[in-house]
Amino acid sequence: MGTRVGVSWMGGVDGKCWYCQHNMENLCDSPTFTGYTVNGGYAEYAAVRNDFVFPLPSALDDLHVAPLLCAGIIGFRSLRVAGVQPGERVGLFGFGASAHLAIAVLRAWKCEIYISTRVESHRQLAESLGAVWVGGEKDRPPVDLDRAVTFAPSGNVVVSALSCLRKGGVVAINAIHLDRMPAFDYDKLLWGERQIRSVTNMTRSDARDFLEVAATIGLRPKVTAFPLSQVNEALMAVKEDAINGAAVILLYK
Ligand SMILES: [Zn+2]
Repeated sequence: MGTRVGVSWMGGVDGKCWYCQHNMENLCDSPTFTGYTVNGGYAEYAAVRNDFVFPLPSALDDLHVAPLLCAGIIGFRSLRVAGVQPGERVGLFGFGASAHLAIAVLRAWKCEIYISTRVESHRQLAESLGAVWVGGEKDRPPVDLDRAVTFAPSGNVVVSALSCLRKGGVVAINAIHLDRMPAFDYDKLLWGERQIRSVTNMTRSDARDFLEVAATIGLRPKVTAFPLSQVNEALMAVKEDAINGAAVILLYK
């Protein structure tokens, strides 16, 4: 009774399809999505399934815990899909809400973190959060990377990330949509068992594991709060990369 819980993008899965039965519920054939196929989101009330809510770490207030449920979980899944191992060299391409949470997890795993972003204020934030190298879109990390995660909805960024990998390295694409996937030199960029992988939705174990890691490492997002009446301004600020960290909409003061 009285447990504070959070709801993520995944509103539910059917539990019956081949993917659900093979421990890949993120790929379910008939998923439901919070605020999209079920009511809730930008609203005072939301319809949620009791098996799709997650207890929240008590150390964070509502404002700071909210970004963990979307940007946080998907960033964490991206690190898993990229196959990040402790101590590896990991590049994050783009530095919005998701990457600024992933960087804290990578630090806890003692990884060397390389950040590429076109936004100067994002480069400063990345440096303050412990990146060993930060650069702009045209710059290249000084070493070959073991793993990379791309956050920008741009196929060119995926190819740049690919060009920074060692043999056997992996690029995981955190973005849901890409503008296009440009042609690239297979022999130079993909041969050598490099891989490009997409990241689709999340599983409940991603959510539980991430929230546990977040509580253990004392992860505290950098947030900018907007009242619901300014939701359009918030969306525009995210679109224009004007937010450092995560934007959160508050329904109450
Ligand atoms: Zn299913």
